[in-house]
Amino acid sequence: MTRLLVIDGHGYFQHRVRTVLEAEGYVWWKPTTTMRGSQALRRRPSTPGNPCSDISSSYDRRRRHAWLSGSSSVASPVSARPHRAGIATKEEILMPDKAAAIELPSHPLFRRRDMVSTIFRSAMGIVLWIIALVPAAAHGQEIKVTLLGTGCPLPVMHRFGPSTLVQAGEQKWVFDAGRGALQRLTQLKVRWQDVRGVFFTHLHSDHVVGFPDLWLSGWVVPPGRPVPLHVWGPRGTSNMIAHLEQAYAFDIRMRLEDDRAAPDGVVILAEEISEGVVYDQGRVQITAFEVDHTPVKPAFGYRIDYAGHSVVLSGDTRVSDNLIRYAQGVDVLVHAVAAPDTLQRAGIPPALVQSIVAHHVTPEQAGEVFARVKPKLAVYSHIVLPAATEQDLLPPTRKTYAGPLELGEDLMVIAIGETIEVQRPAHSLP
Ligand SMILES: [Zn+2]
Ligand SMILES: [Zn+2]
Repeated sequence: MTRLLVIDGHGYFQHRVRTVLEAEGYVWWKPTTTMRGSQALRRRPSTPGNPCSDISSSYDRRRRHAWLSGSSSVASPVSARPHRAGIATKEEILMPDKAAAIELPSHPLFRRRDMVSTIFRSAMGIVLWIIALVPAAAHGQEIKVTLLGTGCPLPVMHRFGPSTLVQAGEQKWVFDAGRGALQRLTQLKVRWQDVRGVFFTHLHSDHVVGFPDLWLSGWVVPPGRPVPLHVWGPRGTSNMIAHLEQAYAFDIRMRLEDDRAAPDGVVILAEEISEGVVYDQGRVQITAFEVDHTPVKPAFGYRIDYAGHSVVLSGDTRVSDNLIRYAQGVDVLVHAVAAPDTLQRAGIPPALVQSIVAHHVTPEQAGEVFARVKPKLAVYSHIVLPAATEQDLLPPTRKTYAGPLELGEDLMVIAIGETIEVQRPAHSLP
């Protein structure tokens, strides 16, 4: 019986799989030259207890799926029943609930044992799936949005870099990881280990510069993160992650060898997304939609729907008809804004002011967007520049929008349930 494992991954993930499994008698195998970016492993026939005698494989590059073949013939087509057909992506391999039905080598890396029957694994998959639903059902039916950072590239203490924590039921995600995201989570006493992953709106540095801190400090600082980190983002995200893994290779090696950090915790499962539903689990649906941050393409906004409630995060954008379309009927719209007055006051050259404003919306334009979307509450975050006052932002917005509006601040919480409640931090920041 064939056991072929094709790992579709890159950088550190492949490196670690290879290191671990070579020590156990696996060899790397590249079935065809068309499998660029992917590699396969097989067990040496001479290995005691080896179930493998032959290898067959195929690879669907478009779907980025790898196959786990169950006989000497090629496994059945990818699409129909991926978990039962024996197809594994790196995400599925590393996610216990998804990997439940996949027969995998007996190694903790794969969280399953060969001796457990397929039937039992299938049953476990269903049980894990049900368990995953229970917390959402048991927990309050609201979305909680916490502004971790409401600033921009300017390094100031009262508005950290753009980052937003969204909690739906028991599930939590961070959207963008600007400067100080990990400090803000710590201030909130949110266990970073409980955050399911990070969504990037786009790859401007102010939105990602806090990511290495989340990733690495969140991994090694007790209690540490023992499981892989999921990251979703636009085209270019995988490349950035691969280079981050290289950039921090020395530290990663030291943490593994010297500090004995949990090996799985440093693994990043990066997924490049396109417009549409990008996450759908436990009644939570996350939809990415393109916004207009020209020439930054693609740049996304996100809509999160849960239990009949919803929030839209604009990301960085000028007036975007697509955002207005996706935001229809939303409860809360969190939108970035640039106030030309503050840029001029800061002595920024006029040409640069013009360029910055052209990448974002002015308060008047934001008001027009709010008026067209009609959210139950509009919130400003990603304030350009952070020195902008209420006077700079609210009166001009009121020229075009009369509905509910809040000027966001770091650690402000917006609870979206039957009613929408806003809590501002009691203490002065930071
Ligand atoms: Zn930005
Ligand atoms: Zn930007």
